[in-house]
Amino acid sequence: MEAARTIDVDVLVAGGGPAGSTISTLLARKGHKVTVLEKDTHPRFHIGESLLPCNMPIVEELGVMNELRAMGVVKLGADFSLATDETWRTYHFARSYNKTPPNAYEVKRSDFDELLFRNATKNGVDTREGVTLNSVTWDSEGKSRAEAVTASGEKLVFNAKYFVDASGRDTFLSKKFDMKVQNKNHASAAIFGHFRNVTRRPGADQGNISIYWFDHGWMWFIPLQDNIVSVGCVCWPEYLKTRTTSPEDFLWATLKLAPKAYERMAQAELISEVRATGNYSYTSDRMIGKGYIMIGDAFAFIDPVFSSGVYLAMNGAKAGAVVVDGVLADRRAEARLQKDFDERVRKGIENFSWFIYRFTSPAMRWIFKNPRNMFRLEEAIISMLAGDVFDSKDVLRRFAMLRAIYAVRVVANFKDQLKNKLTRKRNAGTVFRGVTTAEGQPDTVGFRGGANP
Ligand SMILES: Cc1cc2nc3c(=O)[nH]c(=O)nc-3n(C[C@H](O)[C@H](O)[C@H](O)COP(=O)(O)OP(=O)(O)OC[C@H]3O[C@@H](n4cnc5c(N)ncnc54)[C@H](O)[C@@H]3O)c2cc1C
Repeated sequence: MEAARTIDVDVLVAGGGPAGSTISTLLARKGHKVTVLEKDTHPRFHIGESLLPCNMPIVEELGVMNELRAMGVVKLGADFSLATDETWRTYHFARSYNKTPPNAYEVKRSDFDELLFRNATKNGVDTREGVTLNSVTWDSEGKSRAEAVTASGEKLVFNAKYFVDASGRDTFLSKKFDMKVQNKNHASAAIFGHFRNVTRRPGADQGNISIYWFDHGWMWFIPLQDNIVSVGCVCWPEYLKTRTTSPEDFLWATLKLAPKAYERMAQAELISEVRATGNYSYTSDRMIGKGYIMIGDAFAFIDPVFSSGVYLAMNGAKAGAVVVDGVLADRRAEARLQKDFDERVRKGIENFSWFIYRFTSPAMRWIFKNPRNMFRLEEAIISMLAGDVFDSKDVLRRFAMLRAIYAVRVVANFKDQLKNKLTRKRNAGTVFRGVTTAEGQPDTVGFRGGANP
C-alpha cells in the first residue's frame, strides 16, 4: 500500500468557507505557514446570501471590497411585514445607533466564498480543494496530526502546531467529541430557490432583504445580480411534514399562502433546483480545547432571520486569529486567549439569539411593526440588524430596555402569545425525515444522543 505523504505546517484549517478563508488569510499575513482543506471545489453552491454592514470592515481588511462591490447588490436595509400587510416597515442601516457602515451587499455565495478562498491563496495560504479531512488527534503539547484524502484518493498527513475547525454545518469536531446539541425550542426548516423576474422594492431600496411573517413561519426575498432573487420559506416542521408534492410545487404553494409576497412572484420564473434544510439551530458544548478552536457554523448555527451567519463566522475567524497567533508565540497564553475568544463569540450569538428566538411571537412582531425611537430604541434595533451586537454598551443597554418592553407586550398579547408558545412546543425537537441540507447531506446526523432516523 502506498504510504501517506506527510506535510508539516503551523496551522491546519478544516473548511474553506468564509470562516476558514478569513482566519487563514489573517494568519498567513502574520507569517504563519497555513494550509486550508476544502472538501468541495470552488465555486460551490451555498445558501446564506445576505451580508451585514458590520461585516464590511472585515471585508475591507481582507482587501476584497472592490470585488465584493462588483459582484453584489447594494443592501441599504431590511424590511419587515405580515404577508397580508399593504405596507412594509424598512429599517435603514444609515440610522443605526452608532452609525455603523450604511450598507452591506447581497451576494451569490458561490462567488463570495470563492473570492475569499482565492484571496487566501494570494495571501500565501496553501489552499487545497477536493481534500477531505478524515481524522485528527493531538499530542500532550496540543500539536495535531490530521489525516486527509484528496479527490484522487491520495492520502495526506498534516502535522500542525494548531488546528482550526471551520467545517461549517459538517461540525467536524463537534461530532467527533459528541457535543453537538440541537436547539429543541427552535425546530424549523427552510425550503428555497432562485427566481428571475421577482418584483423588487422601489428605488434605492431595490437591494434590501424583505422578511414576511406568515402563518407557518417566515419568508425571505434577497435580491441578487442578473435579475435573480433568492426566495425562501422557514417553516414549522408540522407544516413541512404536510408536503405531498414535489419540492418545487410545495415552494410555490407555500408562497401562495402569503398574499403580499406572492404578488411579487406574478412574473417569476424558477431558475434553480429547490433545496431544503432541516433542524438547523444547534450549538456545541465547547468551542475550544488544547491545540484547537472551532469557528463559524462549526461551533454553532442560529436561525438566519437576521442574516447573521456569515458575519458571525468572519468575526469569529478574526477573533480566532488572535488566539492562534498568540498561542504560536507562547503556548502558555492559550487558556487566557481562548477564554476571551469564547466569551466574545458567545456574546454575539446570545445577543442575536434573544431577538431571533422570539421573532415569530406576537410580542416581537409588535415591536418590529411599531418601532418608536424613544430612548433611541429603534436605532438600537437597527444596530442589531446591522450586526452591532458586541461592543457598544449603549446599544446593549437598549437591548435590555427592549427586553422589558417585550415582557409587557407578552402580557398584553397573552392569548396570541400562548398560541405561539404551544405551536413551538408541538414542534420542539422534531426530527426531519428525508430532508437533506443545502449541501446535500442528511441534516440530523451528528446530534448528541441519536443517529439519523
Ligand atoms: C436556510 C439558510 C439561510 C441562510 N441565510 C443567511 C443569510 O442570509 N446571511 C448570512 O450571513 N448567513 C446565512 N445563513 C448562514 C450562513 O450560510 C452560514 O452561517 C455561513 O456559511 C457559515 O460560514 P462557515 O465558514 O462557518 O461555514 P461554511 O460556509 O459552511 O463553510 C464550511 C466549509 O467546510 C467544508 N468542509 C466541511 N467538512 C469538511 C472536511 N471534513 N474536510 C474539508 N472541508 C470540509 C465545506 O465543504 C464548506 O465549504 C443561512 C443558512 C441557512 C441554512
